[in-house]
Amino acid sequence: MEGLMRARVQVQEVEQRRERPRDEDLGFGKVFTDHMFLMDYVVGRGWYDPRIVPYGPLALPPGAAVLHYAQTIFEGLKAYATDDGRVLLFRPRENARRLNVSARRLCMPQLDGEDFVEAIRILVDFERRWVPSAEGTSLYIRPLYFATEENLSLKPSATYTFAIILSPVGSYYPRGMSPTRIFVEPEHIRAAPGGVGAAKTGGNYARCLQAEARASELGYDQVLWLDGREKRYVEEVGAMNVFFRIGDTVVTPPLTGTILPGVTRDSVLHLLEEWGVDAQVRRIPLAEIADACEAGGLQEAFGVGTAAVISPIGELRWGDMQLKISAGRTGPLTTRLYETLVGIQRGNLEDRFGWTEEVPRILA
Ligand SMILES: *Cc1c(COP(=O)(O)O)cnc(C)c1O
Repeated sequence: MEGLMRARVQVQEVEQRRERPRDEDLGFGKVFTDHMFLMDYVVGRGWYDPRIVPYGPLALPPGAAVLHYAQTIFEGLKAYATDDGRVLLFRPRENARRLNVSARRLCMPQLDGEDFVEAIRILVDFERRWVPSAEGTSLYIRPLYFATEENLSLKPSATYTFAIILSPVGSYYPRGMSPTRIFVEPEHIRAAPGGVGAAKTGGNYARCLQAEARASELGYDQVLWLDGREKRYVEEVGAMNVFFRIGDTVVTPPLTGTILPGVTRDSVLHLLEEWGVDAQVRRIPLAEIADACEAGGLQEAFGVGTAAVISPIGELRWGDMQLKISAGRTGPLTTRLYETLVGIQRGNLEDRFGWTEEVPRILA
């Protein structure tokens, strides 16, 4: 399969390659590399025409299904530079698997997992000079996949485009890790039972913007989402999975269909198990967190996801309650998880789980 994909990819190079911004000037997701990967699908023929082309606007008719009914999904992962000049991917097969779970939920065709990883390898190799190397920086990889059929009737599209774009991103913590202030959203919900909360699909993020804007106006960094049925149980923080340490036990909510199954979440659970930390995956009433905080048992709280890796939570605002966590500092387990994951991703720590894989030199 690998060879097949490699042989089929057509390359159209830009005339003039652009300058890469200096590592210290990088933000998140605003600068894109010179090229992107595209591939099309039509029912009856399957996937065809894999290609690397100059990064730029896509021609999409205003009648394209994605613009109306949001039949669209995406992924997010990173390529990391090692000190000895290699480029590593972190668990890309998990993203391939998740993309196909999202695709099934939105009635979109499956994409071969090896083709997905191979397309990433080929594009990242081609854009290798865009991988930043300063501490905390990486090349963010955004695969996206959407319905292109020109048809306003509500049915699964017969045609699709799969694209991969790349963005060199700066350190999430240019001034060191600092705990975030979180607003518990009392009214809106991110996902509901039977919905699409477990799929990485556009509508899940658009629906969150208003609550996030309100929290931001009040001076908070992110929203904590509660379950859609009773608004009692903790689900996610911003677009991250969430963990709490109460005493010596770590808790995180289960994947019951309303929570996005994060690769970082799964990696954290593996590390906790390896370290012998008692980790419980179970429903967590927010009242339990508030009680633990007031009794002095809530030691740490953090969000986890590819962009930030680990994001410490220093404060939760729930109605009139102002819950302070870790005295506004980053806790020891939060720090250890961050340093371990980043160490493995950057090739500085032994990768006992076989999570990383090197991007081979293919086209150069
Ligand atoms: C992508 C995402 C996550 C984190 O997933 P990772 O694979 O760890 O990056 C968590 N929650 C939501 C809502 C997400 O979209």
